[in-house]
Amino acid sequence: MAEFFKQIDQSGLPVLPSGNASASAIPARRQLFGLDRAALSHVLTEMGQRAYRGKQLAEALYKQRVAHLDQVTTLPKEMRDELFTAGWDVGRPKIVESYRSVDGTERYLVQTGGQTVETVWMPEGDDGGEFSDEPGEGGKGNWKRATICVSSQIGCAVNCQFCLTAKLGLLRNLTPGEIAGQVVAVLDRHRVELNKNRVNLVFMGMGEPFLNYDNFMAAVRILIDEVGIAASRMTVSTSGIVPGILRYAKEEVRPKLAISLNAPNDEVREAIMPVNRKWDIAAVLDAVRQIPFRPREKVTFEYVMLGGVTDQPEHAEQVIRLVRSANLPAMVNLIAWNPGPGIAYNSPSSESVAAFQKLLLAAGIQTYVRRPRGRDIYAACGQLKRTTEGAALAL
Ligand code: SAH
Ligand code: SF4
Repeated sequence: MAEFFKQIDQSGLPVLPSGNASASAIPARRQLFGLDRAALSHVLTEMGQRAYRGKQLAEALYKQRVAHLDQVTTLPKEMRDELFTAGWDVGRPKIVESYRSVDGTERYLVQTGGQTVETVWMPEGDDGGEFSDEPGEGGKGNWKRATICVSSQIGCAVNCQFCLTAKLGLLRNLTPGEIAGQVVAVLDRHRVELNKNRVNLVFMGMGEPFLNYDNFMAAVRILIDEVGIAASRMTVSTSGIVPGILRYAKEEVRPKLAISLNAPNDEVREAIMPVNRKWDIAAVLDAVRQIPFRPREKVTFEYVMLGGVTDQPEHAEQVIRLVRSANLPAMVNLIAWNPGPGIAYNSPSSESVAAFQKLLLAAGIQTYVRRPRGRDIYAACGQLKRTTEGAALAL
């Protein structure tokens, strides 16, 4: 915990032990993937080429989803060779392991810079209504839409007591190319045609996006401008990192926001989320109020239900008061706690989840229950810990 506060105390952003990567994580080649069109044009004009070649390269990387330079057939072979000789390569993260759940969810270990990070594919969306406007249908092979859950860091420093990712600690920040690359690798694997298939992104994988703010937002811009996914189809979740929320509030183009509230009051929140000591519920809500919400835009409050700890009717009453007094366009997303080895909480009963939802709905608060996806393969919320043992059906 002290460790965590030290990491975010100074500027609100993390200080990593030794730069962004360990020696083994530094790629041998310079990565083109992650550079935007202007930067790609710059690389090529430095080599004496015309600037429009940058656009062709961007299209190859982000639209055609090439994995190697020799697949960039819009550039002459000599130009590709020259890029390679100058030390460049595509360098997109690569799916090296995959696990498929009985519900159709797939969890991937994505290799980048000598380490792996996790990305989850949820066909038919991750649930009805909460981050999109159609009901989900579960794991049918023939998906019409899907949600990709993306990681922003390897591990996490925030140390929420109920989360398996926290057990890893923070290993390192991901670069913009490593964040956007997870999405492109998964789109490529499923041969997704973005003009035909609906894809939503949730930045709810490993890590705290707002403790890797610049890289996270740079990835968002690549995904919007180059890959072609609208910001309105993206949701970022934060544990309540106030400096990040304040920066986010000033962005012109931004994904939707979810706040991991997870508790009915500061006392319980502090016990399960040490970050609450630095920024309590009131501070987080104050920051969220700085966001210029668009018409119909809402903030989502995520609420992990821990059996006996946060799932009782009196907790629901407190949540109702809290949400009302927040005076924000908001909805609530209930998440039954997903178990993990070494974490001593209980999942709530389905009756207590239903009763909780009923109370909130009766109070006029839009409330969804997130259907757990991929629990059997450690792909559900808070279960991402690069688990390889016991995971079902390696593909
Ligand atoms: N770090 C960010 C985003 C990733 S976590 C954040 O915390 O918001 C995504 C969501 O999963 C968060 O709302 C978090 O509270 C929830 N979560 C974490 N561990 C969980 C678990 N074991 N069961 C259910 N939800 C969990
Ligand atoms: Fe980090 Fe989110 Fe897990 Fe908390 S819930 S430890 S912020 S990944």
